[in-house]
Amino acid sequence: LNELKNKKITVLGLGVTGLGIVRFLLSHNIVPRIVDSRPVPPGAQWLADNEPQCEAVFGPLAEASLSSADMIIISPGLALYEVTVAQAIADGVEVIGDIELFARLNDKPVIAVTGSNGKSTVVTLAADVLREAGMKVGLGGNIGTAALDLLSNDYDVFVLELSSFQLETTHSLYCTSAMILNITEDHMDRYPDFAAYCAAKQRIYKHTEHLVYNASDANTFCSDQQGVSVGLSNADYQLMMHQGELFFSAHEQPLLPVSIMALEGKHNQFNALAVMALLAPISLPIKAFERAFAQFKGLPHRCQLVADYHGIKYFNDSKATNVGATVAALESLSAGHGKIILIVGGDAKDADLTPLAEPMAKYCKAIYGFGKDGSLFLSLHRNSHLVSTLEDAVKQAQAIASNGDCILLAPACASIDMYPNYMARGEEFCRLVDEITQC
Ligand code: ADP
Repeated sequence: LNELKNKKITVLGLGVTGLGIVRFLLSHNIVPRIVDSRPVPPGAQWLADNEPQCEAVFGPLAEASLSSADMIIISPGLALYEVTVAQAIADGVEVIGDIELFARLNDKPVIAVTGSNGKSTVVTLAADVLREAGMKVGLGGNIGTAALDLLSNDYDVFVLELSSFQLETTHSLYCTSAMILNITEDHMDRYPDFAAYCAAKQRIYKHTEHLVYNASDANTFCSDQQGVSVGLSNADYQLMMHQGELFFSAHEQPLLPVSIMALEGKHNQFNALAVMALLAPISLPIKAFERAFAQFKGLPHRCQLVADYHGIKYFNDSKATNVGATVAALESLSAGHGKIILIVGGDAKDADLTPLAEPMAKYCKAIYGFGKDGSLFLSLHRNSHLVSTLEDAVKQAQAIASNGDCILLAPACASIDMYPNYMARGEEFCRLVDEITQC
């Protein structure tokens, strides 16, 4: 931190992360300059009320003379490809993110997880296991508490969820173990190509002792092929039959029966195996896994069963904001739930939607598309309908549903075109389902 005190620091971006960085710096008597391209960024009022002495430049970045700083601490919402940022880098300015700052100040073990889907589920479950084993766990990063805010507590270990945006600006994060869960297309509106998105995620392995990867996703492999693999089959951590029962196993040793897990779905069995592989270097008692797996009911808005009414199940998977997550939802709900009526749409972020065609054909009775890119899904299934609101989608889905069907909101899109965030979209779905089941 002393090193930072002698530098001209600009905090770029004054949203939630940026404000966290500003607060952190000020609490260590470092006064940054603050820049945001929005005329009134979310943190502007807080800044005016609490720290009016900070120099703030809001508006076009071209006018913010970014190159005059020694260091820019950038928010994950801003791309390094942004012209003015790229120019500052070319002019020799050091550009880092909040995770890099965390990494430079932290000396405790870190377990880190990235991937296109399943990050929050895996880090939450991993933290639960560690707590069951009696450890004090700092869980944060791209979930809940910002990493810098975790530093002031006396934790034994940190479990960090990291997005590709955060990893782009992280250089020296040392991890006891780390995993890329999977990489499917997402954020193609932000990266020049898929390879650039993969490269950002691969940065997590840079200084990692125990590398964990997905056996069936080559994009998660580390270049020198070290580490342990996770998969439902053909992996170091996989499912196996033992005494007539399905078990989670490590290196062909059965560890726990899958039936102890409260969460359903194949992708969640994969997530549980990922947790076991990630925590292997810490040597925890198996009881800790058993208790945590049995108690964890899943996070809201992820394949959450909202109602089971007149033989029709309603699932809220609003967090399925990309194609990979929707495919996982279809595959996981297909077992024993009859035909699926799927609600999709929102902002598709320029993604290739064609991987949905096969699971849709196999598992779906009908598709309802809504929102900005709802119409892009219509050609993927023979029984597709365009509607203007989520309410219309739910009502029409209910009208054609019969006993044994399930109605699934798994939009494969961001919610930003119609809602403040995916939670608001999921809550509206729950409310609409409530209306149906109350009348
Ligand atoms: P993230 O934090 O990466 O967005 P979440 O745990 O919040 O991950 O889950 C996001 C979406 O991905 C949800 O729709 C969830 O059902 C789905 N999902 C969870 N785990 C996996 C997985 N291992 N593979 C594919 N999809 C998954």
